[in-house]
Amino acid sequence: MPLPDDPAYMHLALDEARAAAAAGEVPVGAVVVKDGAVIATGRNAPIAHHDPTAHAEVLALRAAAERLGNYRLDGCTLYVTLEPCAMCSGAMLHSRVARVVYGAPDPKTGAAGSVLNLFAEPRLNHQTVVDGGVLADDCSALLRSFFQERRMNGNPHPLRDDALRTPDSAFDNLPGYPWAPRYLSDLPALAGLRLHHLDEGPVDAPRTWLCLHGNPAWSYLYRKMIPVFLAAGDRVIAPDLVGFGKSDKPKKDGAHTFTWHRQVLLEFIERLDLHNVVLVVQDWGGLLGLTLPMTAPQRYRGVLVMNTTLGTGDAPLSPGFLAWREMCASKPDFDVGRLFARGNPQMSEAECAAYNAPFPDRGHRAALRAFPPMVPEFPDSDGAAASREARDFWSQRWQGESLMAIGQQDPVLGEPVMRALRAHIRGCPEPMRLPQAGHFVQEHGEAIAQAAVKHFSR
Ligand SMILES: [Zn+2]
Repeated sequence: MPLPDDPAYMHLALDEARAAAAAGEVPVGAVVVKDGAVIATGRNAPIAHHDPTAHAEVLALRAAAERLGNYRLDGCTLYVTLEPCAMCSGAMLHSRVARVVYGAPDPKTGAAGSVLNLFAEPRLNHQTVVDGGVLADDCSALLRSFFQERRMNGNPHPLRDDALRTPDSAFDNLPGYPWAPRYLSDLPALAGLRLHHLDEGPVDAPRTWLCLHGNPAWSYLYRKMIPVFLAAGDRVIAPDLVGFGKSDKPKKDGAHTFTWHRQVLLEFIERLDLHNVVLVVQDWGGLLGLTLPMTAPQRYRGVLVMNTTLGTGDAPLSPGFLAWREMCASKPDFDVGRLFARGNPQMSEAECAAYNAPFPDRGHRAALRAFPPMVPEFPDSDGAAASREARDFWSQRWQGESLMAIGQQDPVLGEPVMRALRAHIRGCPEPMRLPQAGHFVQEHGEAIAQAAVKHFSR
């Protein structure tokens, strides 16, 4: 049964909750009252304390026990703005508080009746009384406005429930990558997912280099080529595929399909209305990217092709690719940075670590799991028909200039695969060969970019 003084104490707990919100924490506040006096307060602070147990109730209980010099809080009442979770309810039972009063119910984690009721469990609880719903409207309004503000305020790209977003801090101070992030989330195919891209150089530049990365890389892969293009006075566009880099990462592997990623890129190019494009591709950047120009050939003037292929589904996948696919399946948590380090002894530790930055945990790695099996293997695989159509385009209809650069140490998409691809690109001259470079050719990209700036006339 609520008591006449309850709302007054709950107002004090609400003050604590507001202070938590001001500090960027989920607004929950608590006070402990004994004999009519407030003896302790607590506000939610797991972020500030780096402590998952730093809930308002736990902090208030600790402060009260300290104040009383006793871990038993006999005769105390704890007021909290939100129904306590299982952890906090357990702590309250351990402290032997006489009474718990909460404001808003918590249908997601409430352990005082909403999800479960620890206080009603006679094997656990002999004495603690619970009253809920005191100033419930005020308490839940505070929470609601906090979450709404966090979603919208200064954030035009709210995070979808079925996706993850790598924290910005993961990308702090990456070597050789000074460019400002740009985001789009309103392309129809994105359905609200946030797509990151770089857009550097003048919008009206005579040439635009559209740089597409593959798996498991991101736009960081182009950091050695971008400065060369910019120094030539050109514009550079480098998106991170959904699931990679600074773009949002769907939680489910099954969200990734060839057709969907291709559609995102088509809409991206339309939205930016790119012209005089030199398409720069490698790995999945080519598997997807080489299927793009046939839909709008007038946008493209050149193609720079590095270790990639077309997934036409009518030729067997290379033994090197099958080995890679098998490795990804058997070691899904493989160290991305180490993969780069192995083929690139010239890279610093910090540069290798930058390739791990987008993937702080397994949950963020859905694209890494999804992409290898997504390479079209059979004639009716998703993307195979578009890739065959693209092969016809490149061999018969392509009017632009072409350049090919091959990292010769690549066991997956190296010289034999590239020679086969070259046969399908109309007018492609003898390739530039990089004997030291492996699959991630762009790590030796400065020389390639310099050759490309000369090769593609302006
Ligand atoms: Zn709690």
